[in-house]
Amino acid sequence: MAWPTSSEVTEPKLPPRSTLSGLRARPVKELPGVGPRIEAALKELGVTSVADMISHYPSRHEDLSNVKKIGELRVGEKATVVGRVVSTRPVGRPVRGRHPGFSAQLYDGTGYLPVTVWGRSWMQRGLQPETRVVVSGEVQSRYGIQLAAKSIEVVDDGGGADDGPHAGRFVPIYPANKGVQARRVRTLIHRALDAAGHVQDPLPADLLARHGLPNLHDAVQEVHFPEDRARLRAAMRRLVFHELFLIQTGLAARKIRLDRTETGARHRGDGRLLNPFVKALPFGLTGAQERVVEEVLADMRLEKPMRRLLQGDVGSGKTVVAVAALLTAVESGGQGAIMAPTEVLAEQHFLSISASLKDLPVNVVLLTGSQSAAERRETLRRIEGGEAHVVVGTHALIQKGVEFRDLSLVVVDEQHRFGVGQRTVFREKGKTPDTLVMTATPIPRTLSLTLYGDLEVSVIDELPPGRKPVETRIVEPAGRLEAYEEVREELEGGRQAYVICPLVEESEALEDVRAAEELREELAEEVFPDRTVGLLHGRMKAQEKRDAMAAFRSREIEVLVATVVVEVGVDVPNASAIVIEGAERFGLSQLHQLRGRVLRGLHPPKCFLIGDPKTDDSLKRLEALAEHQDGFKLSEVDLQIRGEGTLFGSRQSGMPDLKVAKLLRDLDVLVEARREAFALVAGDPTLRRPDHRPLRREIRELLGSDVEWLFRE
Ligand code: ADP
Ligand code: MG
Repeated sequence: MAWPTSSEVTEPKLPPRSTLSGLRARPVKELPGVGPRIEAALKELGVTSVADMISHYPSRHEDLSNVKKIGELRVGEKATVVGRVVSTRPVGRPVRGRHPGFSAQLYDGTGYLPVTVWGRSWMQRGLQPETRVVVSGEVQSRYGIQLAAKSIEVVDDGGGADDGPHAGRFVPIYPANKGVQARRVRTLIHRALDAAGHVQDPLPADLLARHGLPNLHDAVQEVHFPEDRARLRAAMRRLVFHELFLIQTGLAARKIRLDRTETGARHRGDGRLLNPFVKALPFGLTGAQERVVEEVLADMRLEKPMRRLLQGDVGSGKTVVAVAALLTAVESGGQGAIMAPTEVLAEQHFLSISASLKDLPVNVVLLTGSQSAAERRETLRRIEGGEAHVVVGTHALIQKGVEFRDLSLVVVDEQHRFGVGQRTVFREKGKTPDTLVMTATPIPRTLSLTLYGDLEVSVIDELPPGRKPVETRIVEPAGRLEAYEEVREELEGGRQAYVICPLVEESEALEDVRAAEELREELAEEVFPDRTVGLLHGRMKAQEKRDAMAAFRSREIEVLVATVVVEVGVDVPNASAIVIEGAERFGLSQLHQLRGRVLRGLHPPKCFLIGDPKTDDSLKRLEALAEHQDGFKLSEVDLQIRGEGTLFGSRQSGMPDLKVAKLLRDLDVLVEARREAFALVAGDPTLRRPDHRPLRREIRELLGSDVEWLFRE
């Protein structure tokens, strides 16, 4: 055995130091053992850099302290067993040359156990003899006992170099795929942690100390290879805090920056338009509407630009609040704009707002993408000259060439259909207008803290009086015609109905249009031959859509067959029934929005969900809708079903996806992270203090170039 040379003795090798940012710049293929094939498979798992590799966190940990010995297993019980593979063989009749499952013989020193695994047959190749696995499932009696595995995971590969990190009591189980099996993922993570060395923590040390959180380096190590449950929990908490804190700091920086630098219109409405408008309404405002109008008007009086989110469930009467704000802008000599996500909704707002203001000296114009060039030119002229007081429109409102004389208020309706990017466009045009964004999408209040963290929030938590809950029924395809018989009763009572076509694609492809036309024909000829049945879909020309909506509103059309173009906002109070065909294909919030179309009148409304739910999730969605009326409640259920991942799609928020935090579970952490983030930014708005620089760099990398301006001096 050779003695170490003197240079090895005097210069002990220190672990390398690194930053997350530096690790993001290092491709994962620099790790030993990552060739092109593994690189491609890792990419599918979302891992391309060394940073990605160390943050490829386990989806769970198997606790090996609860395992049973094979010799002690009883038929009928559910058990977890650890053993070494003796042999494997495929089982089941092959389909296109592939077996549907495999069977593995395990040995654990107390006995042999055949384990059957259905699906995941790609795992068989990785289960060489001597591989140690942990399996869970039900013990069955079949030629002796066997185990029907619900899960099977590799613990280690049988005395190889990887035994060290895998030998603990908690075995991390990683998201893996065909191309990189679990054991390889574990090995690569180990190598990545070695290559990373000591990872610098972007969060301030005093903050961590205050919350008793481990530093980043320790947390990452512990999440992968925890010593015990308590440390694992602390490490997870730290990573959740980390993720939420970065987002909240970005939001706080933005809010404080805007508050400091922007000046907006100081609205001095005198009520000369607003008061007569409210007086002429056919109903009194609800208490919630009154309170929210007050909150909005108070914001508008300040010089600081308003940034307020108005949340109110479907049918809670947000439009009236919007009109009150628009009138206040006009009273103060400014212009107001309201932007809707669809042409159908923009048209409807235009009609209903014009009608409710017809006795007042207010000019309302409509601007959409499908107007003729001449119409558009004239409208733009009136907007630029200031002759148009209130402008209703679609995205067309924020396109180039639209100049306002003095835009002082923007209302964005159904904000969940727009991204954050679009919200900021108005802000950059000249003086900063006040902004009111409205949404019905059921996002629980608490979650909106994160989603819209830089907005003040107002909530309409009360529906207008007399609203009846919508009787909601799940109807199997066989009961479809009976459901239509009930619709007929509504029609006979002088009311109207929507029939929603199954969703093929949101984009309204040609197949959707054809399916919609066929459904209309079927209903018109076979089900309601004595009634007028109309059609509305996204591919119709603007004038055709307008005509169809007008005919439905005037009751000339009694049954409107429609695609999801009617999802948001459409308001025809005489409609008291809605049939949703292919209901299992819609998302929960979409179903809730659709059902909201019949929540508006005084007749007890009915909703029929025709569907043949094939998955547990689609059945749960339909059952949730049948059980709950409240949008907030429904969105909580939705989050539970979907596992939150999709909540933060870029279309909805422009915010990064959450990787470790779960909002329902980690709400307390969110509240803390938010408080700390706002406090930190208040003391150092551009994060220029030397000890805040690593944090600033992280936020830049997380939120992208959009946030550059936040940190300029
Ligand atoms: P949403 O919040 O979904 O946008 P709307 O503003 O379209 O709801 O209002 C839904 C319906 O309720 C409309 O027909 C509207 O005229 C009516 N409405 C609004 N406020 C009241 C109220 N305070 N009392 C009775 N009906 C109201
Ligand atoms: Mg609305």
